[in-house]
Amino acid sequence: MASNGFRDLHAMFSRLVAEHAHVPQLFDVVVDRAFDLFESNIGPRTQGLPPLACRKGCPSCCSLRVTATAPEIFLLADYVARIDASPGGAAIGLKRRIALADRVTRGLTEAERMARRKPCPFIVRGVCIVHPVRPLACRGHASFDRQACVRAVAGRDVEVPLSEPHMALRGLVQSALQSSLRAAGLPWGLYEINHGLVLALDGTGRETAWLEGCDSLAPAAIAFDAAAAEAQFDALLAS
Ligand code: SF4
Repeated sequence: MASNGFRDLHAMFSRLVAEHAHVPQLFDVVVDRAFDLFESNIGPRTQGLPPLACRKGCPSCCSLRVTATAPEIFLLADYVARIDASPGGAAIGLKRRIALADRVTRGLTEAERMARRKPCPFIVRGVCIVHPVRPLACRGHASFDRQACVRAVAGRDVEVPLSEPHMALRGLVQSALQSSLRAAGLPWGLYEINHGLVLALDGTGRETAWLEGCDSLAPAAIAFDAAAAEAQFDALLAS
């Protein structure tokens, strides 16, 4: 992670968070910027590498556990609600699909989730129905070998050749966003998306509570070493 890049992104996200404090527009603004940063920078960072094997219609990796920041989850929840309310959306019933998936995947570790092979609820007829707002974690997972992905998902012990630049850029953008949320006194952890979405869509005002600094998605939080992450953010900001 380049320290200057981290500082610049932290400052940029912090400015956006301050400008949209306490209002739901914060989700659109910071997540749009995060996605745009990823998409506009990944091309130059992958020049000279072999072509990716990832294609529309290949959902091989979409049974892995996906984690996301709270702003990504609230934005995705809004997208889900709009699809469900659309003329064709009722037949798909995304909210119901998420609830059913959550019953199977809640509380599973990454390894348990992979072993369960439960597809993401957003795979409809082989494609991701929320592709424009898929989390950074999905954007940062890119493979050079489709057969290796298929074998890994089938439980075979194979190493999938993943794109390092995709993982590094996802880490940079996500960490800078988390660091800015932390600086603003907002919950800055990562959440498993199926359960996070069930919570975000439960109609109990979790969005408003989160904007006021309450960790309203906490039941979906992924355990991690917060002290180590904070020390890393501080070191990068000070360097
Ligand atoms: S959100 Fe889309 S890209 Fe991400 S795991 Fe689900 S189906 Fe796959």
